[in-house]
Amino acid sequence: MKLIEAGRLLQGFTASDEPIILENAGVLVEGGAIREIGPIDALRLAHPQAEPLGGPGMVVMPGLINAHHHVGLTPLQLGSPDHPLELWFASRMGLRDVDPRLDTLFSAFEMIESGVTTVQHLHSRIPGGPDAQLATAEAVTGAYAEIGLRASFSIALRDQNRLVYEDDRAFTASLPEALRPAMAAWFERFTLPLTQQIEVFQELRRRHAGEPLLGIQLAPANLHWLSDAALEDIARLAAETGLPLHMHLLETPYQRDYARRRTGSAVAHLARLGLSGPKLTLGHGVWLDEGEIEACAHAGTRLCHNCSSNFRLKSGLAPLNRFLAAGIPVALGLDEAGINDDRDMLQEMRLVLRVHRAPGHDAPCPSPAQVLRMASEHGAATTPFAGRIGRLFPDMAADLVMLDWRRLTWPYQDVAIPLVDVLVQRAKREAISAVMIGGELVYREGRFTRIDREAVLAEIAGRLAKPLTEAESLRRSLSEAVLPHVRRFYAGYLSEN
Ligand SMILES: [Zn+2]
Repeated sequence: MKLIEAGRLLQGFTASDEPIILENAGVLVEGGAIREIGPIDALRLAHPQAEPLGGPGMVVMPGLINAHHHVGLTPLQLGSPDHPLELWFASRMGLRDVDPRLDTLFSAFEMIESGVTTVQHLHSRIPGGPDAQLATAEAVTGAYAEIGLRASFSIALRDQNRLVYEDDRAFTASLPEALRPAMAAWFERFTLPLTQQIEVFQELRRRHAGEPLLGIQLAPANLHWLSDAALEDIARLAAETGLPLHMHLLETPYQRDYARRRTGSAVAHLARLGLSGPKLTLGHGVWLDEGEIEACAHAGTRLCHNCSSNFRLKSGLAPLNRFLAAGIPVALGLDEAGINDDRDMLQEMRLVLRVHRAPGHDAPCPSPAQVLRMASEHGAATTPFAGRIGRLFPDMAADLVMLDWRRLTWPYQDVAIPLVDVLVQRAKREAISAVMIGGELVYREGRFTRIDREAVLAEIAGRLAKPLTEAESLRRSLSEAVLPHVRRFYAGYLSEN
């Protein structure tokens, strides 16, 4: 049993985004959950045997949720510049291979040290058959278990258009003859029938049922990556299992135009196939039109705003203020990486706070409280842990961040500025004193308690210091050769408006 003292405890937010703050509070933690919250003096008297943590100079807030994440080392680190999304898919074919355990730990370090206690891990692509998929999934989820980070894990489901927004064979046939065998072989490595992808999902669910820090959920990859038959299968699976879904949608203007050609409104199309409502989170949604925003609000469909990613891949500026005005719950995701090419949720919150400050005295902009609620409660709602994380109340999981207020505000902070405003605008990673996940301190004063970060980084450095393998070299050559053809495919693709 642990008793955390908080000079100020941010429990969460009211329905109207008002922060709920207690002073001189205690959080009694037992068995991974919060047992009791109340005045610290009374709790100390009632539970003298509890291990004392925190202190009067500590601000305690809910752990943050990175609601959209894919990989560890970033594409930039592994050899791909930030192209526009559709070209980046081709450029990423040339990335170096990284051991999935080491890769997962790399970004887990960055997330935890910026206050993230749950990650929505959407694994994009795994080459090979079901066994290879399961092995990678086990390495990734095993790494999260090793470091103690709560994870919602999924492997993206896709059954078509694996490189550009047209059929794989048609694209291969459009290439110069010399490129076709290598391109066909690449598609072959990443082609697994949907039924087998679903078997992998079911097997992962079976293996990990009841694990406190791991949830398995569904990730239909994106409209262009899925046929209508596949979307219907996934909708049925979601209804049977009751699990949440996270789906990329309308990330770029090219995706908007693809949707228009295929069906008209992407959101209406998904709804017709049974995909809408509070269990569904749409990643990005940069190009939702007003009617689609209204439809999401009406159905209770959630959005995940990936602000840095949208900038880096030239996707555009999501209409966040419109989402909020419509009453859509919006989560925040770091996607591949933030604008500093790392996974810093504190920085991402500041970016979201600043970017959407529309000019004009009365023009809309998100408040610090809204942004922090997105990064906690609304992110939590996109995972299988919904209702148990993202806020600090009795019977919820003990996933929390302790911030040293003196370090955060030194040498001065006027008390007229509300707590949440200071947290969102000034808190840097160095202010984080400790991170607790499921009742266990996994990070304390710059050190990970379960794992040696320097040893993991040294192992990554050692492995990547070796020259490119033959397979890596071949993929890099293919990536370079195919990029101009991908660019050509999209020339003239966009409609006038
Ligand atoms: Zn993504």
